[in-house]
Parts: sequence; C-alpha cells; structure tokens
Amino acid sequence: MLVPRCASCSLWVSPPQPDCPDCGGELVARAVSGRGTVFTYTVNHHPFDPSIPVPYVIAIVELAEQKDLRVVAGLVGCEPDAVRIGMAVEALSAPDSGPLFSPAA
Ligand SMILES: [Zn+2]
Repeated sequence: MLVPRCASCSLWVSPPQPDCPDCGGELVARAVSGRGTVFTYTVNHHPFDPSIPVPYVIAIVELAEQKDLRVVAGLVGCEPDAVRIGMAVEALSAPDSGPLFSPAA
C-alpha cells in the first residue's frame, strides 16, 4: 500500500494533496507497513453497486506510521457486528479496488 510522503520533512499526507501541507515539499508515494487501527466505521446496507454484496463495512483506518494519518478503506474478513473502534487491522493486497483491510492476525 502506497501513501504520499513529503520528500523534505517526511510527513505522511492522506488524503493526497498537491504538496506538503507543512513545508510545501514534494510528495512521493511510499510504502507503508499496512498496519493500523479502526478510527471509525459505518456498515453499508444499501446496494449502491449490485456486484458488491451487502452489508459491508467502510472504515477510516488510522495507519501505524503517524498519528492522524488516516485512509478510507473497505474492511473484510469479519462480521460487521464484530468491528470495533480501535481494533487492529492490516492491509490486504487490493490493487484495483482501493484500500482493503482485514482484522490483524
Ligand atoms: Zn513537508
């Protein structure tokens, strides 16, 4: 999983911005560990896309790399009722569907 990081001051930046909000430096996509915790989440019951079975969980995950570094992601691998704020999660490889996490092993 790649997240923009400032080449000058090393700040991770998400959601993406044109340049570093702290120092104006250039942002370059860098790999993160994929570890994080559920900051908050919602359970979607409406079939916006018929190819995606409901219900499913949309989470805001705070990444381990930096306080307040958060990404919006799908959360799979557990029942929606089992999701908890603060729960440890890890990124799955999901090249085309956007960030996807599951409960940490
Ligand atoms: Zn910077």
